Amino acid sequence: MAKSYESEHPVKALGLAATDSSGHLSPFKFSRRATGDDDVQFKVLYCGICHTDILNLKNAFGMTQYPIVPGHEIVGVVTEVGKKVGKVKVGDKVGVGYMVGSCRSCESCQDDLENYCPKSIPTSAAPYHDGTITYGGYSDIMVANEHFIVHIPDNMPLDSAAPLLCAGITTYSPMRYFGLDKPGMHIGVVGLGGLGHVAVKFAKAFGCKVTVISTSLSKKDEALSHLGVDSFLNSKDADEMQGAVGTMDGIVDTVSAHHAVMPLIGLLKAHGKLIMLGAIAKPLELPVFTLLGGRKMISGSVTGGMKETQEMIDFAAKNNIKADIELISADYVNTALERLAKADVKYRFVIDVANTLQQS
Ligand code: NAP
Ligand code: ZN
Repeated sequence: MAKSYESEHPVKALGLAATDSSGHLSPFKFSRRATGDDDVQFKVLYCGICHTDILNLKNAFGMTQYPIVPGHEIVGVVTEVGKKVGKVKVGDKVGVGYMVGSCRSCESCQDDLENYCPKSIPTSAAPYHDGTITYGGYSDIMVANEHFIVHIPDNMPLDSAAPLLCAGITTYSPMRYFGLDKPGMHIGVVGLGGLGHVAVKFAKAFGCKVTVISTSLSKKDEALSHLGVDSFLNSKDADEMQGAVGTMDGIVDTVSAHHAVMPLIGLLKAHGKLIMLGAIAKPLELPVFTLLGGRKMISGSVTGGMKETQEMIDFAAKNNIKADIELISADYVNTALERLAKADVKYRFVIDVANTLQQS
């Protein structure tokens, strides 16, 4: 007989789980593996809520294994390390992002791009090497192989550092890789949500001029005054969009829903690059002639490798980059998910796991 979630491993854990595609989260008792030689165990303090959590909870990709404990923007304090662990010690602040495993031998893994390993293992709701299902950070305790652990510098506030583990690396990595990180470049950021607002912060730290392209006029004043964006385009206003045609070196598109990309390609200069980050299931319309004139490029990117994730965190610590968060208690999580689906958050919900996650 299969073991229960509570007894398949020796370490007792409490999380928030959904048992079906309604995605409704409730307290869930399960277990974590004992700390192996290469493992780090940590007490979860905070976990960010990414839009991808909604998609996985509702089985949007058809791959969700229930019960699912979501969460891949996880930070906490190390409570135990395996005997081969050298990267961190008990008491250190650490984080885990979208992945907890990969094959470690393919070309991508050799190139520090575990995120492109065909066998990379998501932190939540995926089969792990031992055949059990991974449970994410909406839970009180985590155990992960040290390779997939990021060290969080002491000067970083942990609650607002959590979203960097996904939103941060997902935007930092393509800006670096595609060379959209040069001072004086004009970068567009489409969608001012969790990913979008940290994309703005990294682009500003690189010395770029930043324009936000948004459907929400209500975000305009704060984007200009607080986030320090250089300009704000209302993507529903054709005249405003027309006025910015041919002005941008690159665009980072973080929109979570189906939308038109042709007007965005129009904003690019010759050789401009449009980088798609949103996980949009329905195919987008792509009239290729918009790419031909100006030798423009459209590409995509998914999270980042572990080496680059550490580099991103260290860069953020040095440049005082943190997410703007709404800290919530665990019992607010279902409401938060509903609000996130309506783009009603500035700009990331983070669950105060250690202080608020309770049995009932
Ligand atoms: P989010 O906080 O919900 O932000 C998405 C933003 O998109 C919204 O704030 C809104 O910005 C805009 N938007 C929403 N619905 C729209 C619509 N119908 N038309 C036009 N714009 C719309 O989500 P997130 O956590 O930043 O994630 C963004 C997307 O990236 C999601 O699809 C997520 O699954 C995906 N993702 C991908 C990766 C990766 O590795 N590639 C990693 C994490 C997340 P405005 O109000 O400013 O218009
Ligand atoms: Zn995410």
